[in-house]
Amino acid sequence: MKKLTKIMAMAMVSILAMAALTGCGGGSGSIKFGTNAEFPPFEFIAANGVIGEYDGIDIAIAKKIGEDNNMDVSIENMEFDSLLVALQNGQVDAVIAGMTITEERAESVDFSIPYYRATQVIITKPESGIKSAADLSDKFVAVVQGYTGETVIIDLGLNYESFKKGTECIMELVNGKCDAVVIDSATAAKYVADNPGLIIVEDESAFENEEYGIAVKKGNTELLNKINASIQKMLDDQTIAELGDKYSVAE
Ligand code: GLN
Repeated sequence: MKKLTKIMAMAMVSILAMAALTGCGGGSGSIKFGTNAEFPPFEFIAANGVIGEYDGIDIAIAKKIGEDNNMDVSIENMEFDSLLVALQNGQVDAVIAGMTITEERAESVDFSIPYYRATQVIITKPESGIKSAADLSDKFVAVVQGYTGETVIIDLGLNYESFKKGTECIMELVNGKCDAVVIDSATAAKYVADNPGLIIVEDESAFENEEYGIAVKKGNTELLNKINASIQKMLDDQTIAELGDKYSVAE
């Protein structure tokens, strides 16, 4: 009897531990967020992430949205280019991926209110002499496929190659195979902090402000209203600002 009680107690402990790990609280419904965990500080893989092995500002926001609405939250990791398709065919309920709200994307999905402001910046080596976007005209640039950075470079008519991951672009730059990388500001700060010898060049006149939003399937207003209410709360009580400070490199 005593042994049985002990076994039951152990079983309870592991069930509770599982619940804590997966964030399952028996909530009313669930939200599956699609992301591309290749975009620090917004989403990346970590040993002890906020949700399973996923960590970052966006993952913490996703978790809060679940808590605010008493819904279980899970993360599905995929290529950035596949996210909006996965949303449209119902593979995920929402996309949180440092995704800039653009008119083009808003034709196929609905976006939440903006939750973060960003801009594109140039990462280069000091010896490149690059001081502005205009200086890129005779240079070779690496960008990530499907990112707004790619669109901006195409619009500027520059020579470029696109890669699947930000880290691949950085390796190209470190190895001297390109002159610059154009990518979102907070992510650039992270890469520069991790790779000595690289600098950030800002050019506010060339790169417009961008705003990140969470995407849902077109017409899913029920989920969108929940997400918006939660974002508004996190903007009002400074949760998102604090997450930004916690995860970002001090500039
Ligand atoms: N903000 C950029 C975009 O929307 C990059 C997003 C990302 O890499 N996750 O394209």
